[in-house]
Amino acid sequence: MSLLLARTFSFLGSTQSTRTLRLAPLTALPRGHHLGTTRRHPSTASNRVPPFATRAMASDTSTHVPPAPGVSKLYAAEPVAGRCALITGASSGIGQATAERLAELGCRLVVAARRKDRLDALAEKLAKDFGTKVHCVALDVTDVDAVMSLPSQLPDDFKDVSILVNNAGGALGTAKCTENNMDDVSVMLDANVKGVIACTRAFSPGMVERGCGHVVNISSIAGVEWYGGGSVYCATKAAINAFTYASRKDLHDTPCKITSVSPGFVNTEFATVRFKGDTTKAENVYAGMKYGGPLIAEDIADNIVYALTRPGRVQVCDVLVYPTCQASAKEIARE
Ligand code: NAP
Repeated sequence: MSLLLARTFSFLGSTQSTRTLRLAPLTALPRGHHLGTTRRHPSTASNRVPPFATRAMASDTSTHVPPAPGVSKLYAAEPVAGRCALITGASSGIGQATAERLAELGCRLVVAARRKDRLDALAEKLAKDFGTKVHCVALDVTDVDAVMSLPSQLPDDFKDVSILVNNAGGALGTAKCTENNMDDVSVMLDANVKGVIACTRAFSPGMVERGCGHVVNISSIAGVEWYGGGSVYCATKAAINAFTYASRKDLHDTPCKITSVSPGFVNTEFATVRFKGDTTKAENVYAGMKYGGPLIAEDIADNIVYALTRPGRVQVCDVLVYPTCQASAKEIARE
């Protein structure tokens, strides 16, 4: 039975997941799962077609067992296992969640941020959970010299970076244009714009040379819809959208892809950083948000993984993603 279970779930691709499932008792399987010994879709109240089922699912459930979400026999996603991915801002939030997902999928990782202690802890966890090879770099993306010299300083095992997630950055303050703090302005422009441009400059030539590469830039709804009190942050993300769009033109005659992912509200350290450590103000940003609340970092990591795992011919240009209760930069349904 354990062999059958392992084979049934081998689509998960991860040794860890397979090992866990092999040990799982039969009762842990989805009800009605086709193992020959279980009845298929007996008509009990607990496993009738769920309310979210599509018409196709509802039409004939007598022989077909729907696959797990994200798994299809009709469409093949492209594995990223074995590729080397560099993630900036991996010490928290979206960057950290992305590192975890890519580790689970079998990538080697270069994780970069200023807080090296957090990167070291992450590397230890990923090595333990997934056997991932991780190289940690204490890096301030605003230090252009450090960024430009990074490709040559990586250990041999990590030199073939073919995935770059330009995630490091954030917002500082909510000042009006009449009151902008020029130090905050410099930090935002340097990290959110110059950092992304520098990392792309440093790593894209190797990708083009090796004929394999994907740059994912983390933009924001702020890059599309510009709101008062966010003029500089919005300007940095609009710059990233323009940079991504124009870079696609530079790269379109190569196999390399470039994608922007533009989230709405995501509950990370973002708001705490924006309000300079004032956690009460930060919590108020997400307070009472309806229908499951704000996005979480793992949601955005999932969008990034989606873009990275499309077949070679498919280039996702931009993913704009909101929590269910959000309709625009400031339009949020709250309790
Ligand atoms: P977060 O939890 O505050 O993470 C930000 C990350 O960026 C941290 O790992 C931080 O690490 C790193 N970072 C900041 N400045 C850096 C620098 N100069 N050099 C190197 N690393 C730096 O926030 P997050 O939400 O995950 O943010 C990630 C990205 O998503 C940002 O680009 C942000 O603008 C974007 N975004 C966030 C939201 C949201 O609602 N959360 C919405 C749209 C877009 P260190 O401090 O250790 O360096």
